Amino acid sequence: MQKGKIGVSTDNIFPIIKKYLYSDHEIFLRELVSNAVDATQKLITLSRLGDFKGELGDTTIRVSFDEKKKTITISDKGIGMTAEEIDKYINQVAFSSANEFLEKYKKDANAIIGHFGMGFYSSFMVSEKVEIHTRSYQEGAKAVKWECDGSPEYTIEEIDKKERGTDIILHIDDENKHFVNKDEINRLLKKYCRFLPVPVAFGKKTEWKDGKEVETEEDNIINDTNPLWTQPPANLKDEDYKKFYRDLYPMAEDPLFNIHLNVDYPFNLTGILYFPKIKNNIEIQKNKIQLYCNQVYVTDSVEGIVPEFLTLLHGVIDSPDIPLNVSRSYLQSDSNVKKISSHITKKVADRLEEIFRNERNSFEEKWDDLKIFIEYGMLTDDKFYDRAQKFALLKNTDGKYFTFEEYKNIIKDNQTDKDKQLVYLYATDKEDQFSFIEAAKNKGYDVLLMDGQLDTHFINHLEQKFDKSRFVRVDSDVPEKLIPKEEQNELNLSDEEKDNLTIIFRSQVPNIEKANFVVSFEALSDQDKPVMITQQEFMRRMKEMSQTGGGPMMFYGDMPDSYNLVVNGNHKLVRRIVDDCEKEAGETLKNLRSKMQSLETRKSELEKAKEGKKDEEIPQTEKEELEDVEKKITELKNKKEEALKDFASGNKLVSQLIDLALLSNNMLKGEALNRFVKRSIDLI
Ligand code: ADP
Repeated sequence: MQKGKIGVSTDNIFPIIKKYLYSDHEIFLRELVSNAVDATQKLITLSRLGDFKGELGDTTIRVSFDEKKKTITISDKGIGMTAEEIDKYINQVAFSSANEFLEKYKKDANAIIGHFGMGFYSSFMVSEKVEIHTRSYQEGAKAVKWECDGSPEYTIEEIDKKERGTDIILHIDDENKHFVNKDEINRLLKKYCRFLPVPVAFGKKTEWKDGKEVETEEDNIINDTNPLWTQPPANLKDEDYKKFYRDLYPMAEDPLFNIHLNVDYPFNLTGILYFPKIKNNIEIQKNKIQLYCNQVYVTDSVEGIVPEFLTLLHGVIDSPDIPLNVSRSYLQSDSNVKKISSHITKKVADRLEEIFRNERNSFEEKWDDLKIFIEYGMLTDDKFYDRAQKFALLKNTDGKYFTFEEYKNIIKDNQTDKDKQLVYLYATDKEDQFSFIEAAKNKGYDVLLMDGQLDTHFINHLEQKFDKSRFVRVDSDVPEKLIPKEEQNELNLSDEEKDNLTIIFRSQVPNIEKANFVVSFEALSDQDKPVMITQQEFMRRMKEMSQTGGGPMMFYGDMPDSYNLVVNGNHKLVRRIVDDCEKEAGETLKNLRSKMQSLETRKSELEKAKEGKKDEEIPQTEKEELEDVEKKITELKNKKEEALKDFASGNKLVSQLIDLALLSNNMLKGEALNRFVKRSIDLI
């Protein structure tokens, strides 16, 4: 027997491995099985080249465990190692400044393991002792056993091993003994080794016999050595892709489309990406892409490797060119990774465009499900925006779909305002905004439906991208003013009538929490509604963005909603209210008005007398009289308001018109709704 010291510069690397690599302990199995795969593939290659002339035989890799001895064994029939090779590949773990490096990457197990090519040494994360029993494929090679208990001292001796290949025997330490368990090993193999290119057996298949589960003769192979992404796309059918998707995500609905990636220059990349059906919450849809390196599972966190919006896709990416063993921040600056990222973006856009061009109907059918994904991409990735603007669709409230270009052509004649701006009208809720949509359509306008999760942001984005265009929600103004054109009607109300109507209408608006109403007047036609409620586009959008966006918008979130109660001054029902008011309260108002006039006259006389004088030069009596006059004016104003409110509360038409307007905005609720129903019956 020979003894030696492993060539590491720090005295004892194993405590460091255990300490720093704590979180990723379970990858030891991946590392050891991948080594076994490499050793097997090397031998197969040698055999093909004629450099190995013996029988290959069964090259299945076998994983087994012994619960009593607390061991896990990985056996392969690969090239094996001679004593010299063990010394070269296992003992001389030559690295300098190990501590410094470990300190730097202590949170990133992959980085440490990969950096030193010490996949094998990850076995010490879970073992108190590791044995290698190996016999090289080379003729006349002697079998050897290497053993190390986690100190830098190892032993190596010749043993009797007939078969070619390597057994790695891990004596699992107490802290990690939960790994010596059938279900746990199964889980790790399924997670990391599911698509390895060489068969891996874990025990035997079982079957039910006489009510008992018994082992059969057949190996329990845990992997698919020829996964779909490694096969030529020409040989595959749609059903194959769907089946593979179901294998990967047994719980998910069928995907919308798939993309088979197959690149070999300037980097190597294969994979299959799927567009899933995205449900409401985009967060939970993320991180479904699995990343492989030569069929070895690495991670399902692909941020930094694919652009943010593509993390919504599902599927697998396999590339030996992604430097997996480095830290995330390093990864993002890697030029290969950048190329891969933009290549995938391009492929995704190309595929979408291809489907759009060749199968527009099916593209439209799937649009509602695809939309969130494409909008997300267009919002976050300018390059993707440029490609996607050719096939991104806008849907109108009649359920028709248009490309940006098509839609622009449809609306440009009728929806250009007096400043030559193109106005895109949209609704966010077909039911709630029904009457506004209808009114706009009656004017010959088209109304888009923008009811998606990202649409508020998307609209802002389109406004920045589109030339001389803006988006206006269909209920943000009266139909006449949605798209301001030159000609305007004349308003048939005097200033006093407007003042009175303002008081009359304001006094009858029911109390609605977090809503303010401002009465305003429009000169619309008799065909238009007498009273309407609109909401300012700007404020509304700010509030909506504050709900999804946060940041400086937060301020708007707490403000009450501000609505306009728009009175159509030219409507005959409004005229009737003015006339009724004249009939019922005309006398009182006239009285108040004439009193008011004389007071106003006196007030301006007194004010004139004051002009240019210093305070002490004004006689006390005049000062007192002015105060008195002002007080009386206020009293008269209050009286006038009282008289108008009195009239308004007794006039069913006022409340009825307000309620009808609230009703078409879906804002009439509870008690107010109840009162409306009763009043309507009375009126009938
Ligand atoms: P890496 O696999 O990254 O080279 P490892 O520390 O895992 O680093 O392995 C070091 C070397 O030991 C390998 O390159 C290989 O030459 C040898 N080796 C490891 N496992 C086996 C095995 N099962 N059969 C043959 N050689 C092996």
